[in-house]
Amino acid sequence: MSIKKLVEGNKHFLEDKFKKYEHRYIDLVENGQHPKALFIGCSDSRVVPNLITDTKPGDLFVARNIGNIVPPYKEDGTSGNSIAAAVEYAVFILGVSEIIVCGHSHCGAIAGLYQTEKLETQGLHHVKNWLKHGQEAKNYVEAHIGANETEQNKLIMTEKISVIFQLKNLLTYPTIREKVEEGSLNLRGWYYIMESGEIEYYNEEKKEFVKMIKDQE
Ligand SMILES: [Zn+2]
Repeated sequence: MSIKKLVEGNKHFLEDKFKKYEHRYIDLVENGQHPKALFIGCSDSRVVPNLITDTKPGDLFVARNIGNIVPPYKEDGTSGNSIAAAVEYAVFILGVSEIIVCGHSHCGAIAGLYQTEKLETQGLHHVKNWLKHGQEAKNYVEAHIGANETEQNKLIMTEKISVIFQLKNLLTYPTIREKVEEGSLNLRGWYYIMESGEIEYYNEEKKEFVKMIKDQE
């Protein structure tokens, strides 16, 4: 993909989509944004929040990072944590009622949890440091996984368990916990499967991820 393709893309956007939905874009400027959900996803170019949920500008407030990670709350607010800032803004300024943490299959960040030495030798110090927030999930999987599980299953399990740990981290934010407990904010754990386009959600009762859309019968 060259920069030329991106410039041509904007030309195409102006001529086609912007023209078609101009009233909506103007309305979002005049009346402001009122998204109902904060979507915390991975930076992976193959996981496109608006595409996989068929949503439009104004629908989702999005925060993406490597591994869809939510670092735990720090009282003094000095963690330099962009997710904490996005959560605060989405919940207290925009008034979202849903926070979705969406993991995905074939996540390079999750694979990276098992290759920290390699990251170090490659000079990826920031990536290695960031992935510290994912260690809890990795440790959990290593302690619970069967001895005969394949490498692929281990990664899938870590991708899913990590989502649950990120939801747990969201609850370390006192104001988030308060809103969840009073029922004005819902936390959702999702898992996007790249090869099928399907999304699974974490079912609290079953303690497992289940397909969001049931198979057509
Ligand atoms: Zn990823």
